[in-house]
Amino acid sequence: MDAKAPITQDVMTIPRKLPDGPQNLIGLSRDQLRDALIAAGTSEKQAKMRASQIWQWIYHWGVRDFAQMTNLAKDYRAMLAETFVIAVPEVVTRQISEDGTRKYLCRIAGGHEVEVVYIPETDRGTLCISSQVGCTLTCSFCHTGTQKLVRNLTAAEIIGQVMLARDDLDEWPEPGAPTKQNRLLSNIVLMGMGEPLYNFESVRDAMKIAMDPHGIQLSRRRITLSTSGVVPEIARTAEEIGCQLAVSFHATTDEVRDRLVPINKRWNIETLLDALRVYPKVSNSERITFEYVMLDGINDSDNDARRLIKLIDGIPAKINLIPFNEWPGAPYKRSSNNRIRAFADIIYNAGYASPVRKPRGEDIMAACGQLKSATERARKSRAEIAADAGL
Ligand code: SAH
Ligand code: SF4
Repeated sequence: MDAKAPITQDVMTIPRKLPDGPQNLIGLSRDQLRDALIAAGTSEKQAKMRASQIWQWIYHWGVRDFAQMTNLAKDYRAMLAETFVIAVPEVVTRQISEDGTRKYLCRIAGGHEVEVVYIPETDRGTLCISSQVGCTLTCSFCHTGTQKLVRNLTAAEIIGQVMLARDDLDEWPEPGAPTKQNRLLSNIVLMGMGEPLYNFESVRDAMKIAMDPHGIQLSRRRITLSTSGVVPEIARTAEEIGCQLAVSFHATTDEVRDRLVPINKRWNIETLLDALRVYPKVSNSERITFEYVMLDGINDSDNDARRLIKLIDGIPAKINLIPFNEWPGAPYKRSSNNRIRAFADIIYNAGYASPVRKPRGEDIMAACGQLKSATERARKSRAEIAADAGL
């Protein structure tokens, strides 16, 4: 971390505490929303229509206050306000990097915290969202993997991250204004904290809300889910979400991958590749992204690059090289720029796109693999990290 980098930090404490009683409408599917309205006394005949109206207020217009839902009768709005809330995670701090990257630390029920990162680019903007507090997996190069405490996020907490970022970017549509062509938040990547496929249902339900044509309306092609390789859930991702898939591949032999991505001991490289071979066909997604973190002397040789090409033969793929982002106590070093370039060239010459992911927001510890709730006390010792890495 560069101590001289200008960091702006402002504390936004939004008192959106969830009272015990009222039910949160965020995160419910359309059917669940309709059922909740029926349970609150709305007639079955009217419920579908009311659910559509409320859905549009919440997810198209970004309204959080029932009083503003002006196409509903006044006493109906009052009933809603007594029975329900519309609550997204509370933003505790927001940091803005010198490169424009924004990192939000958010508080969720139980006092837990998750990080959400917004990465602006010239013609689009990507929100990197979290699916768990911490991660049950222990990839030896990943900061999140050193965090012990874990709980799955609810669908509300996952879609809530998208909503709070749109709040901060002031990107809900103005009534009557023409639809914006270039959105600030145009893409979502499930590459924050946690393994999304170990929280499948909530991730799926939240992404269905993000894709709904009467709300946030992001195309499934603009959503990328990154997994460390939870093989049994990969086909389900294609069938039930249909988004783009990225895989944390990171090694070309089982021996090295066992050390870097320990889930490989359960589902090895061959099993993983078998699942990936059928993915693009099932989901109509064009290409699978193979993420490959560049670790000095561990997985970055020319032979690794050649083996990688052989392994993925026949899979529509692009390879995303990620220079290792260091964190305190990390047992690895980043490969040199020359090494990364040489590795990328071999892949490129074999006919694959091989972009090198530019680290973003490093000055605020927002880059890939650096996320970890700052206030999290239960952390692993250096010795435990080294033992997990087989060092
Ligand atoms: N759990 C999921 C998604 C979150 S991690 C997964 O593992 O795919 C998002 C990406 O960042 C993964 O490819 C992960 O391997 C990579 N990553 C983790 N730690 C990193 C680090 N320190 N430097 C660079 N990339 C890292
Ligand atoms: Fe978990 Fe992904 Fe980090 Fe591995 S790389 S510990 S799966 S968040």
